[in-house]
Amino acid sequence: PVVTRFAPSPTGYLHIGGARTALFNWLYARGRGGRFLLRIEDTDRERSTPEATAAILRGLEWLGLDWDGEAISQFERRDRHAEVAQEMLARGHAYKCFATQEEIEAFRDAARAEGRSTLYQSPWRDADPASHPDAPFVIRLRAPRSGETVIEDAVQGTVRFRNDQLDDMVCLRSDGTPTYMLAVVVDDHDMEVTHVIRGDDHLNNAARQALVYQAMGWPVPVFAHIPLIHGPDGKKLSKRHGALGVEEYQAMGYPAAGIRNYLARLGWSHGDDEFFTDAQAREWFDLAGIGRAPARLDFKKLENICGQHIAAADDAALLHELEGFLAATGAAPLMDWQRDRLARGMYCLKERAKTFPELLEKARFALAERPLEREARAEAALDPVSRGILGELTPQLQSASWTREALEETVAGVAGAHGLGLGKLAAPLRAALAGRTVTPSVFDMMLVLGREETVARLGEVAA
Ligand code: GLU
Repeated sequence: PVVTRFAPSPTGYLHIGGARTALFNWLYARGRGGRFLLRIEDTDRERSTPEATAAILRGLEWLGLDWDGEAISQFERRDRHAEVAQEMLARGHAYKCFATQEEIEAFRDAARAEGRSTLYQSPWRDADPASHPDAPFVIRLRAPRSGETVIEDAVQGTVRFRNDQLDDMVCLRSDGTPTYMLAVVVDDHDMEVTHVIRGDDHLNNAARQALVYQAMGWPVPVFAHIPLIHGPDGKKLSKRHGALGVEEYQAMGYPAAGIRNYLARLGWSHGDDEFFTDAQAREWFDLAGIGRAPARLDFKKLENICGQHIAAADDAALLHELEGFLAATGAAPLMDWQRDRLARGMYCLKERAKTFPELLEKARFALAERPLEREARAEAALDPVSRGILGELTPQLQSASWTREALEETVAGVAGAHGLGLGKLAAPLRAALAGRTVTPSVFDMMLVLGREETVARLGEVAA
């Protein structure tokens, strides 16, 4: 069975690159009936904060990337990491190194001066344990000094590392705490992770981690190192490119399904498909479709895909997510009558809205209470003649049946009686029903508002 994991370091918010890594792992596991695990790599006690962990969990939850079981704290597993270091020691795959910081620096200075590799080579590697002093030590991996370490990466292909360029890395510090490099391998092994999908900034680590797997005789997982995300200009992603944190996207009102779809396409492709559902993404996602070139953020594409997801969403689900957006941004919750109107109007409000704020903008007429505020341009559309015509229309609407066809017929009838086309009456009707000149169609507004509210709004301006 496939087991993947997302292993963020809780030193900040969930950034867009991390979210994509999580998504790829989630898609890969979910599409194969596997498990997707979450491990918080909080071994760096200085930089890890509970706030960052909370922000990462919130980001994953918003994106709908559910993980199996409890989130695992790497720090809490430190005893197990130390145990493995001892085991490597016992098996001769690691050794105690008593070198002091000064000695290591002296080694490097000498190597530099002589033009040799500055990779530290500890004299303790081959020392007789009987000669060990009673002094602080670190546990170092006894790494092979010749030959190659080969990573068969599912994205990068065969990647070779010369062993004479990998040092005997420290696995356990002199204070008994594990290094990150050891902790990752022990955790991935114990969590039975089969596929490690992560940013290609970890490719070099994979070689060193592979040596730990070998030392322990553990199976090496499939590695898939994915290219980083770049800004639209092709440069490394940074703050000047705009939003980096997933929560910023949530706050801007993008639907989670749209962000999932967009992120899935960022560095992975399935033919020419741009828009797809979650079910399709789970079915289609594979490691072979991940490209080797850095993906570029493209906000136009992101908006376009988000718009398509809003338009395609189930009305009730969309309303639910909209309410989540309002809550997340601290806006007032909807009142029942507002929710009823949005539920009725979702079919038209969701057309051509790329974000929830855009949808709410279209919905302003429905959320407003009488007396309506009117823009100056709307006021101008309500000239005396128009007000008179609206006055004639009102009683007819009181008895018309409340269907699109009947409403169109009724309005067209009144307009026609004055020798006007429907279009001429549209501006005053928009002004009366919404107080604005740019609105959904007047018939959509009437259907959403219902007879009573429509008549009441016309009554505010009709002469
Ligand atoms: N904690 C690492 C990071 O945040 C990820 C390590 C891994 O995926 O192996 O970049």
